[in-house]
Amino acid sequence: MKRKSKILNYCRSLPSLLATCHLSLNCDIIGLVKKLITKPWILERQLNELKEELRAAGFRPFTARQVFQWLYHKNSQDPTAWSNIGKADREKIARLYECACRPVLESQNDEQGTRKFLIGLADGLKVETVLIREKDHYTFCLSTQMGCALACRFCATGAMGFRRNLSSGEIITQVLILKKELAGYSGKLNLVFMGMGEPLLNYESLARALRAISEPDGLNISPRHVTVSTAGILENLKNLEQDFPPVKIAFSLNAPTSALRCELMPVSRRESLDGLLAWFREHKRRQRITCEYVLLQGVNDSPDQARQLARLLHGIPAKVNLIPYNENPALPFQRPDEATVEKFRAVLLEKSLTVITRWSKGQGIRSACGQLAVLPEKP
Ligand code: SAH
Repeated sequence: MKRKSKILNYCRSLPSLLATCHLSLNCDIIGLVKKLITKPWILERQLNELKEELRAAGFRPFTARQVFQWLYHKNSQDPTAWSNIGKADREKIARLYECACRPVLESQNDEQGTRKFLIGLADGLKVETVLIREKDHYTFCLSTQMGCALACRFCATGAMGFRRNLSSGEIITQVLILKKELAGYSGKLNLVFMGMGEPLLNYESLARALRAISEPDGLNISPRHVTVSTAGILENLKNLEQDFPPVKIAFSLNAPTSALRCELMPVSRRESLDGLLAWFREHKRRQRITCEYVLLQGVNDSPDQARQLARLLHGIPAKVNLIPYNENPALPFQRPDEATVEKFRAVLLEKSLTVITRWSKGQGIRSACGQLAVLPEKP
């Protein structure tokens, strides 16, 4: 009797099993066909890889450098305009590679000169990137993931969940698009990885993008002008500091104790605060660590908590960036008033810490820290 019901159960589940197999087979085939008909994206290539590929395709050794200079120095992704490369070669490159940046679907401005861009990715997802005008330079705020897996309680990107990692080309395309906005500007640029996602959970793409950013024939931006903001993924933090020593680190601390940090930032249960602080204390680096501290009304903004924070940072060459919370309608946190922010800051100053209060720009267009989130389209 038991055996009979087992067989019956098995028969009942067969259609769904078959459907699953059919679906995964279909996806495999679609993936394969897509791979065969879509060309590789040239913005995914490092200079040495392009050199190798072009050499194998019969190009002269210096063509790859010329291509890189067009793509990055001149910010031209249209091979027909690459005038110092022969016509036949240009046509061949266009047959071999997709060269264009991803399209800008929408952009929004605010009065202070902050602009937010919505970029369409090849699979239909959309990513946000922000251009900020500062007093004497521009800052690019770049995204490394679509959504974010960290689910920090106060962050809008965290609330939308994780969709996928961005590829290095998808990171680079953000830089190129923002640079096109500044055509003719040759002054200082700061690149900050503080947009959507946790950069150190997408280390491979981040590192590849950083190479194209710092490559002299690439974007040629000094890594000293790049800041990677992280909730603290220790293993990749070590990799980053080893692979790109001049890159600046911003650490999202956000709480004066490990217990409160675990509540606000669940990642802290896996990546212990003590371990991270020990690394910051012991590892010698050229730059001080910037500790970002989002001030949340009634949660982490009391003078006592400022004193705890100063104790926590004792012995770490650090400066503190206080970020009064940028409110999100769907999240239950508020920004403290200016007097509370000022009191908190005063306690830290008294303890001889360097403190900057960062009143984020771009709140009007929901492009300030922790406000980037691509909402699902209404059906
Ligand atoms: N995942 C990375 C980078 C993205 S968040 C990180 O955690 O650092 C960039 C910074 O914005 C972080 O310091 C984060 O704590 C802060 N932030 C997140 N939401 C915020 C909000 N609503 N208001 C102000 N700052 C916020």
